Amino acid sequence: MGNACTKPVFVIHFGEIALKGNNRPDFETRLVGNIQKTLAGENYEKVLRTESRIVLYTNEKSDRVRIAEKLQKVFGIEWFAEAHETNADIDDIKNAAWELRDNIKGTLKVDTTRSDKRFPMKSMEVNRIVGEVFHESGKYKIDVKTPETVIGIEILNKSALIYFNKIRGVGGLPVGCTGKVVCLLSGGIDSPVAAWMMMKRGCVVEFIHAYAQPDIAELKKSKMMQLVSELKEYNCGNSMKLHAVPYSAFYGASFSMPHKKELVLFRRFLLKVANRIAAQSGTGGALGIVTGDNLAQVASQTLENLHATDEASELPVYRPVIGFDKKEIIEMAKRIGTYDLSIQEYKDCCSLVAAKHPSTKMKLEEAKKIEKECGMEKIVEETMEKIEEIKI
Ligand code: ATP
Ligand code: MG
Repeated sequence: MGNACTKPVFVIHFGEIALKGNNRPDFETRLVGNIQKTLAGENYEKVLRTESRIVLYTNEKSDRVRIAEKLQKVFGIEWFAEAHETNADIDDIKNAAWELRDNIKGTLKVDTTRSDKRFPMKSMEVNRIVGEVFHESGKYKIDVKTPETVIGIEILNKSALIYFNKIRGVGGLPVGCTGKVVCLLSGGIDSPVAAWMMMKRGCVVEFIHAYAQPDIAELKKSKMMQLVSELKEYNCGNSMKLHAVPYSAFYGASFSMPHKKELVLFRRFLLKVANRIAAQSGTGGALGIVTGDNLAQVASQTLENLHATDEASELPVYRPVIGFDKKEIIEMAKRIGTYDLSIQEYKDCCSLVAAKHPSTKMKLEEAKKIEKECGMEKIVEETMEKIEEIKI
């Protein structure tokens, strides 16, 4: 066998983006930009968009393990692989595959795709020719049904890529390509997952958290910062914004509210504040509010109470985890990396608000009546003046 000259690369595939028709170039450009931002500070040569995939060229200084870890948190990536680039030439492909044989464990199969149909051989033929190299050596066994190693080969216009191990990405759409939302973030399990799901659909997410700590310095020492940091890992190196909403004004007024009704009134208060923050936030504002509500998980989340809550919002309220079982949300939280923080003890406003047996059937008219009596608009105004932005 001759020598093949190969370059170390990552090949990156983006499933869903390919379906987006006219928007496709925008999506691809954004994904490339997001990959570059995610890898800021890493050693690599360049990121190239080519023939419906992205090729990331690394070098001998690159920390390929860390790069792989980072790519696993970039939305829009369906799967990727550490690959080796050689010429689009059958002899070079054969030689390169053979030289990389240390990557093969057990039985193998060759799986070729051609992006450039001008390549003189069909994929099956390439599979056969490369497979033969291994078969004829007498050291390897081909098994096309249940191989232990798959040698992936992608033949492009001017190059060919060879890899052994596909790594699943997080999927979704590149952050930033669908718009901005604000997310009501508690210290619990559900709302961080809800935020993550909207980021996955390409949203820029700003957080709103109502805090019960005596001052902002205390909040800054709390786990809320770490929770946001964990979600920031998926934000392509961009910082994230947390609007810190003091709970004091609402709390003061809450004593004059029927105790059992407080929870829905608190939710409505949060939505009113969130709508104002959304309207103020940057060009065009945020176009939706995200919560971690889940149907019937807790008393505030009955259909009646959600109905009475929603009316307080002009913007649509998105609840991406509404239909999951708690177990499923927990699994996701673990996968995302927020679970351990979410279960850490935290003095959330809800624990101060929540009556032992809150009303499960709040009537909208009743909520509005109480709000009028306690001067809710003023409470919101007062709160708005004390909101601070934390950059994380
Ligand atoms: P989570 O696990 O997100 O806390 P949960 O199922 O425990 O949700 P609640 O605590 O009743 O339900 O809260 C419902 C939703 O209200 C949360 O998912 C969140 O979106 C919002 N929320 C609750 N508390 C706060 C808070 N202190 N600041 C901002 N939003 C909050
Ligand atoms: Mg909670």
